[in-house]
Amino acid sequence: MTIILFAASAKDWKKYGEVLKKTLDTSDLDYELTTDINNIDAEYIVYAPSCGLTDFSRFKSLKAVLSLWAGIENITGNQTIKVPLCRMVDIGLTQGMVEWVTGHVLRHHLDLDGYLKMQDGLWQSQKYPPLASDRNVTILGLGALGLACANTLTNLNFKVHGWSRAKKNNLKNIDTYFGTKGLSEALSYAEILVLLLPLTDETANIINSSTLKTIPPGSVIINPGRGHLIDDSALLESIETGQIHHATLDVFREEPLPKTHPYWNNPKVTVTPHIASVTRADTSCKVITENIIRGEAGQSFLYQVDRVKGY
Ligand code: NDP
Repeated sequence: MTIILFAASAKDWKKYGEVLKKTLDTSDLDYELTTDINNIDAEYIVYAPSCGLTDFSRFKSLKAVLSLWAGIENITGNQTIKVPLCRMVDIGLTQGMVEWVTGHVLRHHLDLDGYLKMQDGLWQSQKYPPLASDRNVTILGLGALGLACANTLTNLNFKVHGWSRAKKNNLKNIDTYFGTKGLSEALSYAEILVLLLPLTDETANIINSSTLKTIPPGSVIINPGRGHLIDDSALLESIETGQIHHATLDVFREEPLPKTHPYWNNPKVTVTPHIASVTRADTSCKVITENIIRGEAGQSFLYQVDRVKGY
């Protein structure tokens, strides 16, 4: 009997519990699914930190920790996790992110805001939006989410530039850059900049007063990655000077974003409340089940986190 502990919030259990049971039932696993975080015999822990569990050392039979979420910056540093840690890669979550990013890129590319404001009886037809093939979009992060967004944007004919840690070969229609040296080149094309990096020691504050200067004047920043990727004061200053034309931000250093935060009242900032995408129950439970099957068969796990790299 494989003991699976679902350690997340009560709200998460409501959303995922039944679906997970049903999905596990489609496999040959002989399992017990529990939400009792004191069940120290658990072999797999489906995990979201909101449940308050931080000490994994008491689970002596533990084989893997399976994160419910894609972002694992609050888990990687947990020294009591001595078994493989897997992050969530879920086609439902990916599709949601692709749609959110594409929508916001098109909003800025087509200057939809300008036309929404222009309902004043004046027929101003002097300016046409450029074609996507004349628009450069840079995506920092070419992982599960960044690459899916890049592929959709290239299919719409945008000129897509992508930056990653390791060199990428043969990505169709995407100009790729990597490592510290490649960053300023990738940023130099960023008429629209999308941040889809994980939060690590290396990526924190990657958008700061110095890197902001390497972005073309009048650019737009879209951040569904993590709030700490951006130095907020530097961004606000560059919006003030016009270096950055607009910032669409889904994630923040502090969430919920405090009511008094200057982002709320800045007309050149769009705040969305960390809704760019979310793990979908039906598709993510398949990933969790697949990983438990693999663990029981002694195979390597899908989407195992490299604890040294931090993602
Ligand atoms: P992945 O781990 O699949 O991809 C991460 C990418 O970032 C990889 O391309 C990686 O490079 C690159 N990267 C990491 N560190 C560096 C570095 N130091 N320099 C250059 N590139 C780097 O992550 P996902 O695509 O699944 O998710 C990305 C992030 O999106 C999550 O960590 C989370 O923070 C955020 N997210 C936000 C959501 C929202 O609703 N707002 C929902 C879900 C996720 P390489 O390919 O070389 O390894």
